[in-house]
Amino acid sequence: MSDAAEVLTARDVPLGGPRAMTVRRTLPQRARTLIGAWCFVDHYGPDDVASTGGMDVAPHPHTGLQTVSWLFSGEIEHRDSLGSHAMVRPGELNLMTGGHGISHTEVSTPDTTVLHGVQLWVALPDRHRHADRDFQHYVPKPVPLDGGAELSVFLGSLAGATSPVRTFTPLLGAELLLAPRARVTLAVDSEFEHGLLVDQGDITMAGTPLRQAELGYLAPGTATLTLTNETDAPARMILLGGPPFDEEIVMWWNFIGRSHADIAQARSDWMTGTRFGEVRGYDGEPLPAPELPSVPLKPRGRMR
Ligand code: MN
Repeated sequence: MSDAAEVLTARDVPLGGPRAMTVRRTLPQRARTLIGAWCFVDHYGPDDVASTGGMDVAPHPHTGLQTVSWLFSGEIEHRDSLGSHAMVRPGELNLMTGGHGISHTEVSTPDTTVLHGVQLWVALPDRHRHADRDFQHYVPKPVPLDGGAELSVFLGSLAGATSPVRTFTPLLGAELLLAPRARVTLAVDSEFEHGLLVDQGDITMAGTPLRQAELGYLAPGTATLTLTNETDAPARMILLGGPPFDEEIVMWWNFIGRSHADIAQARSDWMTGTRFGEVRGYDGEPLPAPELPSVPLKPRGRMR
């Protein structure tokens, strides 16, 4: 059973601040830091905004990574220091490249009653981690598949659908819907490792059962991926993939670097108001960075 999936369970993380929003984090965790260049998977909702207060993230910085916002329901207003102002809506990809440095805000709109989606990060390879800040928007056309499935490819290629969005390493990102009891077999890149986040339903991935909010991991070396919806209700999941990312990274707060010194520099640049630019149109103060830990941050790679 060497081709069975490994099950990564989520831990609840309160986002803090004035809002009560809690997310389910499956990456990074002790057992795994990366899947391809995907290095951060936060899954939230469906949250009743009337009780949680929704999302209101004040200006904060990023470096060395890209952020992917993907919603199942609700709407988020995005502003960044590149001057981008965009509405994040269900089924639409919003990919922000932090590169050397960007800052942004994310606020759920007043019309949002239920907030439900994922926030994902992609680590930039060393030679591109100081790239220019950038923002890309793309609306994939959902493609029906044999077996009772529907696929929306927002990054990379799968089942004949290809996203035009530029990435710095080969990546796959897709939303997949499975009809009740549906079973689908996808031809996947055997050089990729894959992660399947279950949003809704009980899924069997390569023979391994996955429950809601779990992330199934499949190592490289598999050319097909078979998924089954074991329930009588529609199922929804996010499929991520990429070739193993062989660089070690240091992740801390909203930064990715290669060393403790990289992170300390980014923190200092944020606190002194340099490097990350300014977000216009947000009513509120920027988020201060937390204190650095007293012990040096250590690089982590795909193997520990
Ligand atoms: Mn952010």
